[in-house]
Amino acid sequence: MAILEKLSSKEAIALEDKYGAHNYHPLPVVLSRGEGVFMWDAEGKKYYDFLSAYSAVNQGHCHPRIVEAMSEQAKTLTLTSRAFYNDMLGKFEKYATEYFGFDKMLPMNTGAEAVETAIKICRKWAYEKKGIPEQEAKIVVFENNFHGRTTTIISFSNDEGARKNFGPYTPGFIKVAYNDPEALKEVLETEKNVAGVLIEPIQGEAGVFRPDTDFMAKVKSLCNANNVLFIADEIQTGIARTGSLLAVCGDCTCQGHCEQQATYQRPDMLVLGKALSGGAYPVSAVLADDEIMNVIQPGQHGSTFGGNPVAAAVAMEALEVVRDEQLAQNARELGALFREKLNDYIEQSSIVTLVRGKGLLNAIVVNDTEDSSTAWDICVALKENGLLAKPTHGNIIRFAPPLVMTREQLLDCIDIITKTLKDFEK
Ligand SMILES: *Cc1c(COP(=O)(O)O)cnc(C)c1O
Repeated sequence: MAILEKLSSKEAIALEDKYGAHNYHPLPVVLSRGEGVFMWDAEGKKYYDFLSAYSAVNQGHCHPRIVEAMSEQAKTLTLTSRAFYNDMLGKFEKYATEYFGFDKMLPMNTGAEAVETAIKICRKWAYEKKGIPEQEAKIVVFENNFHGRTTTIISFSNDEGARKNFGPYTPGFIKVAYNDPEALKEVLETEKNVAGVLIEPIQGEAGVFRPDTDFMAKVKSLCNANNVLFIADEIQTGIARTGSLLAVCGDCTCQGHCEQQATYQRPDMLVLGKALSGGAYPVSAVLADDEIMNVIQPGQHGSTFGGNPVAAAVAMEALEVVRDEQLAQNARELGALFREKLNDYIEQSSIVTLVRGKGLLNAIVVNDTEDSSTAWDICVALKENGLLAKPTHGNIIRFAPPLVMTREQLLDCIDIITKTLKDFEK
């Protein structure tokens, strides 16, 4: 079979079904092309993308500048491993550390690997800097977290599907309620040997749960008070998605880091992935200052592909696009418009109970039982009407279009969404 042979949607689904592991349950649509906020299926039907590959494609599909950077670098040098230096990685590290305001960066590929990296650095810091007895370090995580799929990470998940029969589980994690500063305070003040707190500033997978405005500030100050590392997983919320460069920036609209901003809850370790490459290539990273990052010495951590020249070229261009096209500003403005229009609709609706989110990371809660198929059925109907979104955790639908969307396009999408929802009203 020639790899460029065109398949029908039906054929493509049949192949995945027969030859692929069934570890996903995709919406029945087969995509073959993308550009900006649009994707096309194998039969040429056009859709608005309202998922952005879980917020990896913030810069829009096949952004010409990112594709150009990738193909130029792919023709020049793709992989050296870290056994040797390459002439792109240092540039990327300088660029990213200045962009986000940290001393150092450690590059990896996927989000889960970056989270694993942060966990390892945190534990090592705890033993070598904080003086926690060996094997005793604990990291605080939150109920309903999502940080990836490795054996260690699923060990502290609440998602039974993600966890069951994958044990024995990695010890060393304590789970507390999200958005409950008192519960966190209690744990930090009573548990011995806590090394870090790993948190999503908004819980994306759990259904776009946005904590109270002052929660992250409280988490940070509790971490400081207890000499515990504050680790922000911004793999989904970062890179302009929530209307600022990072969700921990709070209300700041600047396009780079600014430590002066009162709302900026600067983490000790920042974990990035997804849109770090604009969805063109797997690139993730952990950023931290020297006193933390320097606990990692040669031979102690690494990855064959981490920090490769293509990743470096793609990520620098992807970040440059975020700044040049003012994507944070756009996400902020369009997000406010989206929630305003959806709230207008919800006033008269019996099928949707609420819309919530920040910037262009939003979700609606469907008025039906957790185990009903209504959210799925709505997504299938949205697909028929030319818009692609996916339920997350039962009756919640996440809405996260590429941030390069225009106001007219968003209004068009809101039209599609509200018209589709009308068919489900009782
Ligand atoms: C997607 C995601 C991850 C995992 O990233 P992968 O690239 O899928 O390994 C981790 N944390 C959060 C918050 C995410 O949204």
